[in-house]
Amino acid sequence: MDIEEMLGFAKRAGFFWPSAEIYGGASGLFDYGHLGAQLKRNFENAWLQYFVNGNGYHLIDGSEMLPEKPLIASGHASRFSDVIVGCSKCKTFYRADVLLNELGIKVSEGASPVELEKAIMDDNVKCQKCGGALMPPRDYNLMVAVALGPEKRESGYMRPETAQSTYLNFYREFNLLRKKLPIGLAIIGRAYRNEISPRQGLYRLRELEQAELQIFFDPEGWEISDKQNVLAEKVNVVPYKGEGAVMSGNEMVEKLSMPRFYAYHMCMIAGFYRAMQMPPEKLRFLELGGTEKAFYNKIHFDIQAEIGSWGGFREIGGLHYRGEHDLSSHTRGSGQDLSVEVSGKRVMPNVLELSFGVDRNIWMLLDILYSKDSGRSVLKLPYGLAPFNAAVFPLQKDEKLSEYALSLEAELRESLKVGYDEAGSIGRRYARMDEIGTPFCITVDFDTVDSQSDKYGTVTIRDRDTRAQRRVKRSEVFASIASGIWRAGP
Ligand SMILES: [Zn+2]
Repeated sequence: MDIEEMLGFAKRAGFFWPSAEIYGGASGLFDYGHLGAQLKRNFENAWLQYFVNGNGYHLIDGSEMLPEKPLIASGHASRFSDVIVGCSKCKTFYRADVLLNELGIKVSEGASPVELEKAIMDDNVKCQKCGGALMPPRDYNLMVAVALGPEKRESGYMRPETAQSTYLNFYREFNLLRKKLPIGLAIIGRAYRNEISPRQGLYRLRELEQAELQIFFDPEGWEISDKQNVLAEKVNVVPYKGEGAVMSGNEMVEKLSMPRFYAYHMCMIAGFYRAMQMPPEKLRFLELGGTEKAFYNKIHFDIQAEIGSWGGFREIGGLHYRGEHDLSSHTRGSGQDLSVEVSGKRVMPNVLELSFGVDRNIWMLLDILYSKDSGRSVLKLPYGLAPFNAAVFPLQKDEKLSEYALSLEAELRESLKVGYDEAGSIGRRYARMDEIGTPFCITVDFDTVDSQSDKYGTVTIRDRDTRAQRRVKRSEVFASIASGIWRAGP
């Protein structure tokens, strides 16, 4: 699928579409429909179980509006920016590096306004819309400012990332959590960025959902026991210097001199995507270095997926060793010492950040798990992610069949998300459920309700992926479906 086909599919099926659609939509803003919202929630729950609860870490929640001070201390007020360039004639604005890269002129992601201006002059780049002359490139802060209070004198920002609230709450949580390191604090929630030209569906949004885990640790004392042999996971890794290769975590420690804790989390992330049925060759970790990576990151790998509709490998998350930058900055900014004492030693905790763009992950799942073979469209979502775990159909419109099917649906609904459909032919209903990723369809037919039949009280369960059908007793339906429950974990 290309982007337009993907947007068409997402809208037609019920996953997502532009916000304020009845007014013509809004740039960089999307609404999730009944299927998309459930898929997103299921993804977030799987993420929470796998990375947070499964490791004894904790979910917190933070305010989406923040006062100015912490964002000055974090550097966002001065540095959270892209370089933009505007047309002097038609006033169209472009992200300078994106504009140049699209024209085949190589510039790095962190290039300065001066470097970009030089590139524009050298290649005599003009406005792509009207051919007008471009104005000098300049920094443009991406944060969304808010003015609060009756006279709007209290200035603040919508948070540009969820991570900041974790740093702001670290000290209190450290004390609440028995003063031990490491501590993991996660937030799943919205972040806001005033993107210059949002596009490519869910890739660049002005309001986005993040799932981020910050692990605070003592850089001299983080033992990774690896009882489950996580470090044996094979990962497709592209170091900043050197060739890409498929390596286990153990090999990365040996050959790339990667810290063990870092390799461990990379493998853990790969395990997460493996459990999501993502083909391993479609996932890779790309190291950023030089001006591309934030100056405070000691190690920075983008998590990338090969996404056909976005034209190749694109970032869906990141694994960042941020050193002590965050807590040191907020110590300076707030005047409160955020260093802590562990085992008789004073430590400024370091941070390992696991950051995921939820919207990009949703797009990625639809892109990678959707397929069309001989006219059949099927979305092979893992059981635990599918918006509906199952759907119940009467074979055809018939009072007796409907009554039975509705009572079965009501029973299953107590613990599963179940759809019901009696409109159209059974073939079309299967096709619809295949396309939205429902793993099981349960059909009630005349034998089910015929007390003279040897199939009385049994229903048919059809598997989405194999299309195999099985006849089971009503009392066994729940167990047969639930045995397919996807469990997170390597
Ligand atoms: Zn122009």
